[in-house]
Amino acid sequence: MARYTGADCRLCRREGVKLFLKGDRCYSDKCGVERRPFPPGQAGKKRPRDSEYRVQLREKQKAKRSYGILEKQFRNYYELASRQQGITGENLLRLLESRLDNVVYRLGFAASRDEARQTVRHNHILVNGKRVNIPSYRVRPGDLVSLAPKARDLVVVKAAIISSARVEVPGWLQVDVEKLQGTVLSLPQRDQIDLAVREQLIIELYSK
Ligand code: SF4
Repeated sequence: MARYTGADCRLCRREGVKLFLKGDRCYSDKCGVERRPFPPGQAGKKRPRDSEYRVQLREKQKAKRSYGILEKQFRNYYELASRQQGITGENLLRLLESRLDNVVYRLGFAASRDEARQTVRHNHILVNGKRVNIPSYRVRPGDLVSLAPKARDLVVVKAAIISSARVEVPGWLQVDVEKLQGTVLSLPQRDQIDLAVREQLIIELYSK
């Protein structure tokens, strides 16, 4: 699938917030947003005036870029969320959060969602003991997510586990660092999703 291949830090600078796309670097003083707190490009130092549309668009871009997915797939998630019972914005975030690549990242088995996506694609992840190499695979309560035996010695995995020790695993997941596995206890509630977006604005944008 086609995906953005440009510089990750440009995306954060465009949104004016940290999207945590580069693992360790995001927590260091090398972070692009902290070093250059203005949008990329020649005209970067001037932010355009915030129209209602622009504010909604930026919230959508923030969410989409945080999870590293493209417009069509993001819209599909919205369509699905709007057909589910409950609050559409929360449904949307719950769907995004229950992607397998995100779960691998949240469990601390990868330093970023991008790295998690590669780990899944390269057949390094098992769900309930079976290999799953689809990053968008949706986990369900009770699922056991673990690293395949060969992946346990990967340098990137070891580095990710060390660096992720500083980030709290959300309450809807339970990790066993010794066994390199995690359990999905439930689907996340909004307050368990650490993502600074106003999802209601995304829904307003799509429902126009
Ligand atoms: Fe964003 Fe991380 Fe780059 Fe900072 S270091 S700008 S948080 S991707």
